Amino acid sequence: MKLKIYNTKSKTKEFFKPIDLNNIRIYVCGPTVYDRAHIGNARPVVVFDILYRLLKYIYGEKSVTYVRNITDVDDKIINKSISQNKSVDEITSETIKWFAEDNKYLNVEKPTHEPKATQYIPQMISMIETLVSKKNAYVLEDGEVLFSVNSFNTYGFLSRQNLESMMIGNRIIIDKRKRNPLDFVLWKPTSRNNIGWNSPWGYGRPGWHIECSAMSKEILGDTFDIHGGGIDLIFPHHENEVAQSICANNKRLLANYWMHNGFVNIEGQKMSKSLGNYLTVDDLRRRNIDGAVIRFVLLSTHYKQPLDWTSRKVDEAQNILNKWYNINNKQNSKINGIPPNKILDALCDDLNTPLVLSEMHNLLKEEDYQGFTNSLIFLGLNPINSKNSINSQKDQQKEKVNEIINLLIHERKNARGNKDFKKSDKIRIKLEKAGVSINDLENETKWTLKPNFNPRILLTEE
Ligand SMILES: [Zn+2]
Repeated sequence: MKLKIYNTKSKTKEFFKPIDLNNIRIYVCGPTVYDRAHIGNARPVVVFDILYRLLKYIYGEKSVTYVRNITDVDDKIINKSISQNKSVDEITSETIKWFAEDNKYLNVEKPTHEPKATQYIPQMISMIETLVSKKNAYVLEDGEVLFSVNSFNTYGFLSRQNLESMMIGNRIIIDKRKRNPLDFVLWKPTSRNNIGWNSPWGYGRPGWHIECSAMSKEILGDTFDIHGGGIDLIFPHHENEVAQSICANNKRLLANYWMHNGFVNIEGQKMSKSLGNYLTVDDLRRRNIDGAVIRFVLLSTHYKQPLDWTSRKVDEAQNILNKWYNINNKQNSKINGIPPNKILDALCDDLNTPLVLSEMHNLLKEEDYQGFTNSLIFLGLNPINSKNSINSQKDQQKEKVNEIINLLIHERKNARGNKDFKKSDKIRIKLEKAGVSINDLENETKWTLKPNFNPRILLTEE
C-alpha cells in the first residue's frame, strides 16, 4: 500500500515519503473563529479527516501528529465583538463550541492538537525578533513590523508567481511605507482598548500568517511532512508562512508536501452572503440533513476539484445512504477496522474518494458485506454521528426502531387508502409478530411495544 499525493509545490502526484516513520506530521490551517462554519469551511475539515484516518491506518494510530489550528485573534473577530457588544473571548469561545459541534455532527475525528493562536504569542514575538535581527523584517515608526519579500529570493515558489504578476493579479494597495507593495504584516500596533500584547515594538497583536509559522514550529518542528488547507490559502497565506519560517528557522523547507482542496459552489454559483446562498453546517442540520449525508456529498467530488453543492446531490446521497444502512442493518458483519484493498488503493491514489464511493457499490454487488461495513466506518459514513449524535448508541437504536415502525404504519395507511387490504393486513401481521401493538383511532394510529418486542422481525422482508 503506497500513498501518492498531489503536491502543489511540484504540481505532480508524488509518492509520500515520511521524514520519520514513527511520527508523521501534518498541519492544516483551521478556522478564524468569528462565525458559523459554512460548507466551504467544512470541506477541508472532512478531506483532511480522511487523510488523517488513512495515515493512521498505514503508519499506526500513534505514529501520526495532526495539528489543526484555531485563529482566535483577527480583525473580523474584533469587528464582531464591537458590533455585537460582546468580548472577544465570548465571540471566540462560542464559535469554537459551534465548530466542535459541527465536526462531531460530521463524524470528524479530533486532531492531535488544536492550538489557539492566542496561546502562542511569545513564540510569535520571538520569531518576529529573529526575522528583524536577520533583516528579513523591518519596523515602522508606529511599531508595525513588516516582512520584506525582497529579502527572500524564492518568494512566490509555491504559487508559482513572480513578484510582478502577484502585484498585478492581486490588486495590491500601494502603501508608501512599504519597501515592496507585497510586504506583509508580522506585528500590528493597536490601541490599549483592544485585545493585544506587549512586545518589543509596543502594544499590538500578531499578523495572521505568523500565527501558523509559530504554532507549526512549536508543535511539529521546523520542517514537517504535509501542510494542507483550502486552495484560496496558497497565496498569500501559505506563501507568507513559507517565507517567514524558512528565513527564521534557517531551513530549506517548511513542509515536504502541500495539499490544497478546491472551492465549494452552491447550485453552480459562488457562495456569498450577498447572493443569499450562504450555507452553514448548522443550516443543514436544522433542515434535518444528516451529518453523514453532508460528508458523503463532500467526498463525492475529488478534493482538488471545485465542488458544486446541489440539493439534488443531497437527495441522492440520502437515498444511497438509506439503502446502504438498510443493507448494513440486515447483515451481521464482523467489524475489524480493515477495509478491502480496493478501497485502500483508491484512497492511496491521492484520496480518490469518488472512486471509493463507486467501489462501495461494487462491494455490495459482490456481497462482501464485511468489507462494506468496515469501509463505511473507515470513511466515517456510518450513521453513529447523525442528527442524534449527542444521543447514546442505545438511544439511536431506539430512534431507528421508531422510524421503522412509523414507516410501516404510514405504508399501511397508504395501502388502506388504495384499498390494497392484502398489503395492509400483511403489515399489521408483521407488526403484531414483532410485538408492536397498534390502535387505530379516528385520525391516527397509536402504537406501543409489548414485552415480547423483537426488532429483528421488523427488518425481515416478509
Ligand atoms: Zn495557516
